[in-house]
Amino acid sequence: MKKINLRDLSKEEMKCLIEELDMERYRLKQLWQWVMQKGVSDFSEMTNIPKSTREFLRDVSQLNSLKILDKQVSNDENTVKYLFELYDKTAIESVLMRHSYGRTACISTQVGCRMGCRFCASTLEGVVRNLSCGEMYEQVLTIQKDIGEKVTHVVLMGSGEPLVNYKSTVKFIRNIADKDALNISYRRITVSTCGLVPEIKKLADENIPVTLAVSLHAASDEKRNKLMPINRKYPLAELMQACREYALKTKRRITFEYLLVKNVNDSINDAIKLAKLLKGILCHVNLIPLNPVKENANFDRPNIERIKAFKNTLIKHSINATIRKEMGIGIDAACGQLKFKKLKGRS
Ligand code: SF4
Repeated sequence: MKKINLRDLSKEEMKCLIEELDMERYRLKQLWQWVMQKGVSDFSEMTNIPKSTREFLRDVSQLNSLKILDKQVSNDENTVKYLFELYDKTAIESVLMRHSYGRTACISTQVGCRMGCRFCASTLEGVVRNLSCGEMYEQVLTIQKDIGEKVTHVVLMGSGEPLVNYKSTVKFIRNIADKDALNISYRRITVSTCGLVPEIKKLADENIPVTLAVSLHAASDEKRNKLMPINRKYPLAELMQACREYALKTKRRITFEYLLVKNVNDSINDAIKLAKLLKGILCHVNLIPLNPVKENANFDRPNIERIKAFKNTLIKHSINATIRKEMGIGIDAACGQLKFKKLKGRS
């Protein structure tokens, strides 16, 4: 019989397990804290639970943990990129970023991705499988253990489309925000999406007001169709409507990620179109100068004057915009790059 990974359970599911195993009710809080807050990797560490109960738990359940396959630290030591191996020998990437306001873990939600965004290394070999909620959780725990500091913010922006793996993503968010777990508040959690309209609407009704980061990258369907295949299914008008609803229901400002690609979407005209598209939505635009991925299409990064002109045009049209601070200089910072390089033996 396959053992349950305890970090895959919600609090309610752990409560049922405790009832099934005939354990005292007060053990729920103890077990939950060992698994979700203290992040133990062995049952022997659960010192306030009797030995016989721990052995019983070991017979029916497990505490999977990730193995660090590779790690790159930036020159300023503020960014650490991890390549983790999962139980089935597949691999995922996570990143830790130190900011003045705390420490952010950027985690993966799938092994690979099938969304096919043209500038992304994570999609080059399609999707292998979804991560379980526990595997998402373990990325945060393993990073915390490795750096010896608490993670204060989480962004679901590594490989994979979190809203394709909807159930596990929502369970992970509820678990990590629990006050007896890592107690990371919803406003410190960001879910990134390439624009799955039905799931954005569903998320707005979950009563977990996380920040939604929408990868936009173009202000017309014509251009976005070329960069992001998902746009053919959910064109901009539908996506914008879902974003408006999300902002209204959750009272959270939406972040629109806009990758600036030279001569593709970086003209003043593109900026004006973008400002018109976002008019009236509670939002912020995060401009990301492209980090070219050599295994992918021949895209380039615009020069700094063009980047600033784009930003200034948005601001002139009353759209809040910033240029993303570059982190991870000197490491394979773009999503999917470290895995691709390490596992393919490329240099
Ligand atoms: S950008 Fe995100 S959604 Fe698009 S292919 Fe890459 S991982 Fe998938």
